[in-house]
Amino acid sequence: MEKKVFIKTFGCQMNEYDSNRIYDSVKKIGFKKTEKHDDASCYILNTCHIRDKAKEKVYHEVGRVKKLYNNKNKPIMIIAGCVAQAENEEMLKREPYIDIVIGPQSYHKINKVLKNFTKKEKKEETDFDTIKKFEYFDKIKNTNNKISSFLTIQEGCDKFCHFCVVPFTRGPEYSRPFNKIMNEAEELIKNGVKEITLIGQNVNAYSYEKNQKIYRISNLINELEKFSELERIRYTTSHPRDMTDDLIDCYSTSKKLAPFLHLPIQSGSNKILKLMNRKHTVEDYINIYEKLKKINPLIEFSSDFIISYPGETEQDFHETIELIKKVKFINSYSFIFSSRPGTKAAKLELIDDEISKDRLIKTQNILFSNQIKMNKSFENKSIDVLVENKIDGQNKLFGRNKYLNSVIFQGDKKNIGKIIKVKIESCNKNSLFGKIEDNKMRAA
Ligand code: SF4
Repeated sequence: MEKKVFIKTFGCQMNEYDSNRIYDSVKKIGFKKTEKHDDASCYILNTCHIRDKAKEKVYHEVGRVKKLYNNKNKPIMIIAGCVAQAENEEMLKREPYIDIVIGPQSYHKINKVLKNFTKKEKKEETDFDTIKKFEYFDKIKNTNNKISSFLTIQEGCDKFCHFCVVPFTRGPEYSRPFNKIMNEAEELIKNGVKEITLIGQNVNAYSYEKNQKIYRISNLINELEKFSELERIRYTTSHPRDMTDDLIDCYSTSKKLAPFLHLPIQSGSNKILKLMNRKHTVEDYINIYEKLKKINPLIEFSSDFIISYPGETEQDFHETIELIKKVKFINSYSFIFSSRPGTKAAKLELIDDEISKDRLIKTQNILFSNQIKMNKSFENKSIDVLVENKIDGQNKLFGRNKYLNSVIFQGDKKNIGKIIKVKIESCNKNSLFGKIEDNKMRAA
């Protein structure tokens, strides 16, 4: 039987990057990537623990796979990602259909586990072997040849916000060696990648020491800048405490760094930030905002907001709304607080459901109206778009502007990989629609 692997990826960019690297790894032992859900001999769910009821959603997904393969050979069923790390062998006990549970810091073991797999023996790998993992993947070519690619520079978190499971699922902060990151970037650029997004749970906490020199994310950005074929640089997700001046300076020195920063604040109330153990204040955040706006008034922000964190009063909520009005975030994520087992906030008393829903609606109304206003401001203007791909089944192209807006327009696929001018004719909350103004390549 042909060895085919299918990976269904949930959650953040880290998981998307990891899934690609898992493909790169299992290819070495003869697995081919399949895009079809129902003809894999190995089915991997790369899971996310951020959303509510994450564990139950995974069991639900496994149920779907079971039905799908009812009359076919059962695939080797693997649970990877943060739910695998958090639940570990419990998953094997509760759902016999699952064969292997593997956490994010054990992916270097995946080939060995698959080679030794027998139907009788279930396997669980959830050690925090981050260094070994990256050493292993440093030796395997990154074959991603999309126009825009993620590149992990850092993993894990030491900050322990009281609501978050990341320090438990991804482990302590680890920064990859500077030269290994640059080697991988060079590989990606040779593959045709034009935009690199540096990623990590605390990406701007990146800190790597060699020969008594400390390399920060600003050094990575400055070095990436030198690749002439690379058009754009982004990074995510950042923590306000690590927005150091050397990084802020990159916004004046770099021509390729996008003028758009996703910088989560979570709440506009200092009291709530303290309860969350965020280790920064609203004033720290505003200070970063003002410094960046001074460098370039066109820099825009997006953020994450947790609404109705335990203890949030009407006054605290009002302060969040005031902050949103001041910063005018163009694109943000907002959720009602829901507890994650094992975190400090899990034991706290929840705020009434109706009050929470009402606060969420009020928050999202303002966020969405900012978003629409921003999108409308592009109408009848020509903007630079990095063309990423053709839309399946349509004679249309998909690309993004500097602010990460999706841009959809008619065009020839010869434009893929180029930055072209698109005149925006209309928009909705999520996308801009337009037509190519000219076919000349432009600088980012
Ligand atoms: S800094 Fe981010 S990843 Fe770390 S604990 Fe806080 S929310 Fe989670």
